Amino acid sequence: MIFDRALNAAPDKFSVIQLSRFTTWEIGGPTASVVVNTPEELAETVKFLSENSLPWVILGRGSNTLAPTEGWHGVVVFLKGELAEFSFDRSLLFAGGGTHLPSMAGAACSKGLAGLVFAVGIPGTVGGAIFMNAGAYGSSISELVEEVRVLHPCGSIEYLTAEDCGFDYRFSRFQNDHSIVLSVRLRLSDKAENSDILRKEAREILQMRRQKFPLHAPNAGSVFRRPDNGSPPGKLIEDCGLKGYKLGGAMVSTVHANFIENTGGATSSDVMKLIEFIIHRVRKASGITLRREIRKLGELI
Ligand SMILES: Cc1cc2nc3c(=O)[nH]c(=O)nc-3n(C[C@H](O)[C@H](O)[C@H](O)COP(=O)(O)OP(=O)(O)OC[C@H]3O[C@@H](n4cnc5c(N)ncnc54)[C@H](O)[C@@H]3O)c2cc1C
Repeated sequence: MIFDRALNAAPDKFSVIQLSRFTTWEIGGPTASVVVNTPEELAETVKFLSENSLPWVILGRGSNTLAPTEGWHGVVVFLKGELAEFSFDRSLLFAGGGTHLPSMAGAACSKGLAGLVFAVGIPGTVGGAIFMNAGAYGSSISELVEEVRVLHPCGSIEYLTAEDCGFDYRFSRFQNDHSIVLSVRLRLSDKAENSDILRKEAREILQMRRQKFPLHAPNAGSVFRRPDNGSPPGKLIEDCGLKGYKLGGAMVSTVHANFIENTGGATSSDVMKLIEFIIHRVRKASGITLRREIRKLGELI
């Protein structure tokens, strides 16, 4: 088994999970995993993994991740406990990297704090959102960031400003290095909004997403980034006649062509082949090369 080395190194520390249960695509085989609850536990774990040359990766809610069907050779680390809690101090919001983003966005709306309503339907964690600079409807999380506390693999902790994070469209510096988002401080707005208006807006966003996105089937949100010329990837794919195109268990959604659905039993290889096929067809038809938004487990750019 590919994760044997991790389990042999510390059988009490790690357990085996099926990645399909921890990714929204419901794809992925066995891997070793560990749950950490405090920054100290996390630092200790990362030190242990590095000393034993064991590859590791943080997994949030797996809502932007394609995990290999054959399983992963390293250790998947989950942030829970105090690393998944949030609290408010007036219009400041403090959240651990493992915090569930929609719950936090909903709580901000209920408190009459504006700025995060765009995130009510983004089914990830705060760490995953910072890593991806998640956003919707013209807003993204980077606009709210005052400070990000990170743990570097060497064990040092650093406090970064939004500028330090190198945010861009669906990009942050965390995609190029191996540091972990421990927590964030976000600044929301308490001006000219009240909780009823924000809660109504949140309900409307969720309703709209239920209509526009194939939420009935396992998926990982938008598969491709918007190209530089601004053309929506869904339209480019649809124009190639690919809605409903199926490869193995993976299918271009008939609801929204920038989504790939797992119709049952899709493998990571089905999804990757379909992604490559879409890139090829769109390039041939429009000259535009689509780039993936979704990430393969453990990949650095
Ligand atoms: C139905 C659906 C709708 C979606 N809609 C949107 C949308 O509107 N806008 C949008 O931007 N995205 C959207 N997404 C994609 C996804 O939800 C976001 O990218 C989200 O931010 C990913 O968070 P996650 O915790 O699931 O990340 P994961 O998939 O678990 O991880 C993604 C990457 O982040 C890294 N990571 C996670 N946590 C940390 C951490 N604490 N420190 C360092 N690295 C970390 C992982 O190692 C991995 O490389 C959607 C997905 C789905 C399934």
